[in-house]
Amino acid sequence: MDTVSDYFGCMVFDDREMKANLSADIYQSLRKTIDEGAKLDPSVANAVAAAMKDWAVARGATHYTHWFQPLTGITAEKHDSFISPAPDGGVIMDFSGKELIKGEPDASSFPSGGLRATFEARGYTAWDPTSYAFIKGKTLCIPTAFCSYGGEALDKKTPLLRSMEALNRQAMRILKLFGNTDVKCVRTSVGPEQEYFLVPKELYEKRKDLIYTGRTLFGAKPPKGQEMDDHYFGVIKPRVAAYMADLNEELWKLGILAKTEHNEVAPAQHELAPIYTTTNVATDHNQLTMEIMQKVAAKHGLVCLLHEKPFAGVNGSGKHNNWSIATDTGVNLLSPGETPYENAQFLLFLCAVIKAVDDYQDLLRIAVATAGNDHRLGANEAPPAVVSIFLGDELMGILDAIENDTPYEGTKKTTMKLGVDVLPRFARDTTDRNRTSPFAFTGNKFEFRMLGSSNSIACANIMLNAAVAESLKIYADRLEGAEDFETALHDMIKKTIKDHKRILFNGNGYDAAWIKEATEVRGLCNYPTTPDCMPHLLDKKNVDMLTRHKVYSVSELESRCEIMLENYCKTVLIEASTMVDMARKEILPAVERYAADLAAGAAKKQAVVPEAGCCYEKGLIGRLSAMTDQIAIKTDELDGAILEAKGIEDSAEQSCFIRDEVLPKMSSLRAVADEAESVTAESYWPFPTYGDLLFGVR
Ligand code: ADP
Ligand code: MG
Repeated sequence: MDTVSDYFGCMVFDDREMKANLSADIYQSLRKTIDEGAKLDPSVANAVAAAMKDWAVARGATHYTHWFQPLTGITAEKHDSFISPAPDGGVIMDFSGKELIKGEPDASSFPSGGLRATFEARGYTAWDPTSYAFIKGKTLCIPTAFCSYGGEALDKKTPLLRSMEALNRQAMRILKLFGNTDVKCVRTSVGPEQEYFLVPKELYEKRKDLIYTGRTLFGAKPPKGQEMDDHYFGVIKPRVAAYMADLNEELWKLGILAKTEHNEVAPAQHELAPIYTTTNVATDHNQLTMEIMQKVAAKHGLVCLLHEKPFAGVNGSGKHNNWSIATDTGVNLLSPGETPYENAQFLLFLCAVIKAVDDYQDLLRIAVATAGNDHRLGANEAPPAVVSIFLGDELMGILDAIENDTPYEGTKKTTMKLGVDVLPRFARDTTDRNRTSPFAFTGNKFEFRMLGSSNSIACANIMLNAAVAESLKIYADRLEGAEDFETALHDMIKKTIKDHKRILFNGNGYDAAWIKEATEVRGLCNYPTTPDCMPHLLDKKNVDMLTRHKVYSVSELESRCEIMLENYCKTVLIEASTMVDMARKEILPAVERYAADLAAGAAKKQAVVPEAGCCYEKGLIGRLSAMTDQIAIKTDELDGAILEAKGIEDSAEQSCFIRDEVLPKMSSLRAVADEAESVTAESYWPFPTYGDLLFGVR
């Protein structure tokens, strides 16, 4: 293997391989299935399966798996080997169309939120031909959707595909109104920027908190943090560079378009961005990227932390979901066009997004809600928990002019009447950037920045696609019945701006004054935590919209709400228990040992020099002893709260108790323990410090 283009996608059964390995007829039918969702004939499926198997076996694969994304947020796979006994006592490698199309994993232990009664353990997986099969290790992985026998989605892919279909349906209606007849379908595309931390493996292994929870639960501030801003875009250290090179190679083999990489703001923090692709494929690729990041790290003696907030006091990790809508003919519908006519269409799609984000701001918040991301949203480096849109000054000026029928400075026309022939040309606006907005227009796409680094991007895109489909539906309903298209269009855009301008905000999203204005004056939602927002998933307007577009059924929504809350509770309770364990078994004994050694040292000193005061030792022992008392008390209190939380059956109620009782007790235990760390000799401290972890990779 030499150049990248020689091995790019070599582990993917992509279009090139399909063409090379399938007969022309079979290839055509398969393409029809991929592009237009046509049903696959069983004989075609058999031929595709056989070709896929031969291709995979030639590349060393011995097994296949239906690769799927259960509601745990990670991916799951169950491997079956290709072998099948041959009459002569040997084996043949076998793989049928049936096995390609449908699988039946024993799925009883995946969360279903009550969708699948436990006695009905079986769910089934169904091949998603729109995402290419690939080889990982010795296994052919077939991307699949995961459903219950009743047909309810038990995964994240199914609703994502449904949401893409919903948006496609409505966008096609709009395009038709604009006279577009050559477009066959409309798809959303995503380029997710992924942030992560790298820490030395041997240090990671000494910290139970990292091992059990992915984040540090204790840790005093190191003398140096990120205040110098010297890491951001800084020179990449050789060990990290070697990691990135290896990672890129692995991703490229899987056809993942890893493109840019750089250091992030915090020490030990980095970012990887791929070139954007269709949302469904981007979601699969992002899951794979996270997996491969961790795998490659291990090879380099590193651990890749994908938690949203692995370290207190330094930036957390997010994922920026760059999103846009494009036609199969290659037109980006969120890109201002060359002509006024194209711009009218652009403005309509822009307005659809504005309306969607305002009407369903709660759903966007819910889509990114996890225990981990709660530590990040609203912290001063991350977008606030309040959703708002940044458009940039030029677009804001144009919308303003349309709303008020006033002249727009960029044009000589006296008023901005949006007949399609009088709309001004305007340039792509890529220069002004706002890094503090949760939802920013960046010239030809929107960047949704509230996702946590470990989130699957599926959830955010499901909500975004569905909400925009709803705006487009309302627009299409009105425009299709309009007597005069141009007047109706103008009025509708004007109305959208008037009704939804409260969601537009170009200023500093981190500013406390903004949060006050957003909530008190503009009436925007502010849900700081998961227990605050999650129950709103089942608000009538949300259920109505999501079921209207067939993205979720009512029972699927109920199950998701349940699972997300359960997940929150389990996550925090594991963290709390880990703290209790570390405090009792590691921190207290260590501080005690140090205090005892200090006392023994002082006694020895006084034996030699009876008049020595030993003020230093006595003072410090006194402080340490007060702290160990406090640590012990707070540990017991936390333990008590854990026990009480576990006794609460209802998960909504349990999540509120955890938010109000468990999390504050965790913070207060941490505060004393961190203080103790800051006065305990380093050689006594039982696990690596923040300084070791953050500056340990050289
Ligand atoms: P920045 O860090 O300035 O936001 P990056 O170049 O790191 O910019 O990331 C931009 C991301 O947006 C890339 O993943 C890129 O592929 C993606 N992107 C560009 N155009 C589109 C588009 N039309 N639709 C979706 N994503 C896009
Ligand atoms: Mg970005």
